[in-house]
Amino acid sequence: MNNENKSIHDFDLQMICNFFSTMERQGPGSPEMTLKALGFVDHLTKNARIVDLGCGTGGQTMTLAQHIEANIIALDSFPDFIKILNRNAQGFNFQERVKGLVGSMDNLPFQENELDLIWSEGAIYNIGFERGLKEWRKYLKTGGYLAVSESSWFTDKRPTEINNYWMDAYPEIDTIPHQVAKIHQTGYLPVATFIFPENCWTEHYFAQKALAEQTFRHQYAGNKMAEEFMLSQRYEEELYAKYKAFYGYTFFIAKKIDL
Ligand code: SAH
Repeated sequence: MNNENKSIHDFDLQMICNFFSTMERQGPGSPEMTLKALGFVDHLTKNARIVDLGCGTGGQTMTLAQHIEANIIALDSFPDFIKILNRNAQGFNFQERVKGLVGSMDNLPFQENELDLIWSEGAIYNIGFERGLKEWRKYLKTGGYLAVSESSWFTDKRPTEINNYWMDAYPEIDTIPHQVAKIHQTGYLPVATFIFPENCWTEHYFAQKALAEQTFRHQYAGNKMAEEFMLSQRYEEELYAKYKAFYGYTFFIAKKIDL
């Protein structure tokens, strides 16, 4: 890739994506949680229309494909992730029914009332939880499902340090009852809600990040921005260890109903 004429922001993004591209998943989660959420989705036939938005390199897409017969379109805005996903799909021999697509979740290439299932793990925050719920609803058939994971507060009050961190990173983080209310208000039936266990963070995310860091360290040796990025990643992990009683990831499964 040619880095000439790229803004610092673009370079930054490319660097961050390089870091995450060696990982099986780019956010907290696990195959067990993906399957648990899938267990709440009824009536998926072989002809079901399924999309995975903000799929990353497709860790959860492959888990879904192993348990669903239908075709899956996996969409992400970062082309390198989609390349890796399509390569992995071939590796699993899923290339006929799992297709990675470069695109943006705020401008989806689908028809209204077309989809049976919209999946999105750790990605809806990119357009915001409520906006995602509202905008994606039209693509679902009535009775179609939405399964998304999102960060949640576990308590009404929390220490200033962690509150400030999230207000800066993603101020739309909210308590689970408020998030369920948003699901209800935007035209869905809340079907199930469950919190990710700690191993989704420690074993499936932070431990994988530590491995990714080894490669990254070589790739970006002497790069100041990369150093800063690694420090910020370590800070995120420290915060989780210290404040995990106050926040975490929640899976929300909901069904589109007529308003
Ligand atoms: N679902 C994956 C990846 C989560 S990370 C997992 O759980 O492992 C969030 C993903 O959202 C990243 O892959 C990022 O490239 C993607 N993303 C960010 N903005 C996006 C947008 N506007 N449209 C589509 N994908 C986006």
